[in-house]
Amino acid sequence: MQRITILGATGSIGVSTLDVLARHPEQYEVYALSAHSRVDELASQCRKYRPRRAVVGNAEAAAELSRLLAGLPVDVSYGEAALCEIASSPDTDTVMAAIVGAAGLPPALAAARAGKKILLANKEALVMSGQLFMDAVLEHKATLLPIDSEHNAIFQSLPGSYARDPAAAGVAKILLTASGGPFLTRAVETLEDVTPEEACKHPNWSMGRKISVDSATMMNKGLEVIEAHWLFGAPAELIEVVIHPQSVIHSMVSYTDGSVLAQLGNPDMRTPIAHALAFPERIASGVAQLDLTTMGALQFHKPDYARFPCLALAFDALRAGGTAPALLNAANEIAVEAFLERRIGFRDIDRVVRRVMDENPHGAAIDVAAVMVQDAQARRAARQLVAGIARS
Ligand code: NAD
Ligand code: MG
Repeated sequence: MQRITILGATGSIGVSTLDVLARHPEQYEVYALSAHSRVDELASQCRKYRPRRAVVGNAEAAAELSRLLAGLPVDVSYGEAALCEIASSPDTDTVMAAIVGAAGLPPALAAARAGKKILLANKEALVMSGQLFMDAVLEHKATLLPIDSEHNAIFQSLPGSYARDPAAAGVAKILLTASGGPFLTRAVETLEDVTPEEACKHPNWSMGRKISVDSATMMNKGLEVIEAHWLFGAPAELIEVVIHPQSVIHSMVSYTDGSVLAQLGNPDMRTPIAHALAFPERIASGVAQLDLTTMGALQFHKPDYARFPCLALAFDALRAGGTAPALLNAANEIAVEAFLERRIGFRDIDRVVRRVMDENPHGAAIDVAAVMVQDAQARRAARQLVAGIARS
């Protein structure tokens, strides 16, 4: 029995994870579930999956959840310390890190420091503190498996010996595929007028609202470039973004001998989730087999950095190093939230991120405290810029 904690159980990844687990009750047991504010949904998950612990965002939500679960043996608590507890408890083996944004960093890091098997969906944690996170994984002998479909595909396309001896693997390029999102071909001058509904309507994937907007600006791919850098120890020059609108190939590795290995599948996150849960074995995920004969043409082309300035900003942040990616991530979280609340326009997202990057010098990412100071500074600066735009 593998005992699982799901951080962000009510989100898109959390729900897909529970769907896969429910197919294999003899192999997996849910230890703990967390949600931020959707208490009703967490309550019904608790009734179905019977975790020992449930964690929510604040005291009011905890009181409401306790009321809904009266009579069930579920220990209810709230806040960051409780999230860190369920991520590091001796009673759990595996942690699905599927909280969205910087809020996911403390519990993901707690899981790493407790030497857990971590299934990492929360890419923002790695973007903010990549070196510190990878150091913690190594030092505490944690196992880190990527859930992001591209990184899971790259992981599957690399040899098993890669972590021990990356130089011997002969990797020439990591080819990170990107669908291009909903605005791949929309007239650039109309991007100013995009609505949150249009931005969240991804052509291939059904996801949470923040990552959907990130996919529309292609900041998501930028964050994934930084994520790939840390996960696979690859410099920026080794990582190439390839637009592939069909999302059938989930990423590729190109080798010095001319071989290219790819992972293909229907675009459904239950495949990487099942892969990481069962690794190195395979289990059924509920995803239909890919039918190559009905698929039609697969297309590939280079990204347009003028259409997607966020992608270039992320490469800049990766090259700058230190806390620059934390600045990028924090500014983006504030800008996306403001866009979703209709306080700024779609194109203001990249303007806010660029100005925060330009106007706030980054430092060395010596420890998590230093990263959090930059994160807070970037959020303040981004909020001021948003307020200025909203007033004008
Ligand atoms: P979502 O918005 O659907 O769900 C987010 C979850 O995090 C919810 O359970 C919510 O309760 C919780 N949460 C939100 N704010 C919180 C806070 N401040 N404190 C504690 N918990 C909080 O998001 P999602 O689409 O499931 O994405 C989750 C993560 O996985 C993101 O980092 C995203 O980039 C990554 N990811 C998602 C997909 C996908 O297909 N959805 C694919 C690849 C990577
Ligand atoms: Mg992805």
